[in-house]
This record gives sequence, C-alpha cells and structure tokens, in this order.
Amino acid sequence: MKTLEVSVVTPDGPVFEGMAEMVSAKAKSGELGVLPGHIPLVAPLTISAVRVHQDGKTLYVAVSGGFIEVRPEKVTVLAQSAELASEIEMERAQAAKERAERRLAATNQNDIDHKRAELALRRAVNRIEIASRR
Ligand code: ATP
Repeated sequence: MKTLEVSVVTPDGPVFEGMAEMVSAKAKSGELGVLPGHIPLVAPLTISAVRVHQDGKTLYVAVSGGFIEVRPEKVTVLAQSAELASEIEMERAQAAKERAERRLAATNQNDIDHKRAELALRRAVNRIEIASRR
C-alpha cells in the first residue's frame, strides 16, 4: 500500500513523525482527507484532531489550529501546540477548561480576555475529547 510521510511540528520540536496510509484533518474550509499523491495545498486548521491512519489503526493528535501543508508524498502540520492522545494530561485539560469557563463568565463578550478564554476553552475541550478516545 502507498504511504505518505507525516510530520507534526511545533515551536518546541516535532510531536510526530512517521509514515501513514492517510491523514485526515479539519481545515477551516472543511474536512480534509489526504491520500498519497494528493495535490499540493496549504490550509489553516481548526482546533481539532489530526488523524493519522497507520497500519490499520488511527492515531489522534490534538492540534491548537496551525496549518497543514500537503505535498504528494508528505504532509506537514505546523501548530503552536500539538499533543499525541497518549500524552494529553486529562487533569490539566479539565483544570484549563474550568479556568476558561470562569473567565468567560467574568468577562465581557468584546473583551480581549473573553476571546482568549474562548480559545483556551476550545483547546481544553479538544484535548479532553481526544484523550477520552485512548
Ligand atoms: P494550559 O492552560 O493548561 O497551559 P493551554 O491551552 O493554555 O493549556 P497551550 O498554550 O496550548 O496550553 O500549550 C502550552 C504547552 O503545554 C504546549 O507544549 C502543549 O502541548 C502543552 N499542553 C497544554 N495542555 C496540555 C495537556 N492537557 N496535556 C499535555 N500537554 C499539554
């Protein structure tokens, strides 16, 4: 079976490198399924799971947005933060979720802190969902 090289990279270094039969991701414009030979593209990602289909299994990587770059034989995900499902600390994500909810309740909708809290909440919920799959 044909495979693709996959790298998920953050400013702190690589989070995942390996070969896969397919990569799926949630771009801002919609769901993306990348098979070997895909046309080149660059797309912004939502706070979501990048799914790496490898040896008949699916590996989930939580990403806090960022970009996916597709080339026919390689997929690169660049994100400010990314964690493999197995590396997510559930308690930390729960605490971040509660902190964000408190901030949302305490700030005004147009406040910059409100927007920040919304994003923090989305990151936390995304991590909790992905960690629950393992
Ligand atoms: P927190 O408030 O818990 O720091 P955050 O969403 O603000 O959460 P980020 O700024 O996205 O965190 O990430 C900072 C660093 O911490 C990154 O390296 C990220 O991979 C890591 N990280 C954040 N939350 C978790 C978690 N629940 N489990 C494991 N690593 C995490």
